[in-house]
Amino acid sequence: MTSRQTPAIILQVRDYGEADRLVNFLTPDAGRVAGIAKHAKKSRRRFANCLEPLNRVVFQLSPKPRGDLEFLQQGELVNPFPNLRRDLKRLAAAAVLAELAGELSAPVEATGAIFQTLHLALELLDGGASPDSLLPSFFLHFLKLGGYGPHWDSCQQCGQEPAAPLYFSIPKGGVVCSACSRAATGPLLPLNPGVWKLLRLAQELPPAKLTRLRFPPAQRDQSLALIHKFLRHHLGRELKSWSFWEKMSRG
Ligand SMILES: [Zn+2]
Repeated sequence: MTSRQTPAIILQVRDYGEADRLVNFLTPDAGRVAGIAKHAKKSRRRFANCLEPLNRVVFQLSPKPRGDLEFLQQGELVNPFPNLRRDLKRLAAAAVLAELAGELSAPVEATGAIFQTLHLALELLDGGASPDSLLPSFFLHFLKLGGYGPHWDSCQQCGQEPAAPLYFSIPKGGVVCSACSRAATGPLLPLNPGVWKLLRLAQELPPAKLTRLRFPPAQRDQSLALIHKFLRHHLGRELKSWSFWEKMSRG
């Protein structure tokens, strides 16, 4: 049997034993995958500059996975996105998007689109796009692809086009009108109409057009606060790289 080849974006790399490295990576066909790179600490040739988080690479995999683990035979670097690594804020935005893409990549029909969307986000951040505006927009696209897309068009209680003042229901994952807000259960956040319009548009636009949107600081903060609470509720835990982003976005 011959080895297989896959495009990959590296999510996480850890030392494993004396000589090996354990690599988590995103693929278009299988979503998030874990693999062992044997003797990678010594073999400069087989994994030359490859095994860094956020690198876009091509991996040669053994003919068959062993249990849940792939065996990485060789890697080739395609794009290290060098510019985004020179700016900690862009790096933090890339890290948090990559983590979310990995978390949501389980539905088989979505793995290809999630891979392409993360690749595009990294390219845009590397090309100098503003993380403040890209982050909320790409969060929404990953949520949509992973089956958790928030509902913006109609009140999630009465189904009507909602009029201000608006609320966002964390458990329902969508907008709630003011008349329904008193009866709604679970955490409910006030939703500024300008933020509502921006988020609705961000989720509708194709990812390649998301650089057209501008999130001014107040809108960015409210959008990210809402998305953060929504993510925590539906993932059941905090994204590990969120605190890195929080620190860098304030700096
Ligand atoms: Zn309503």
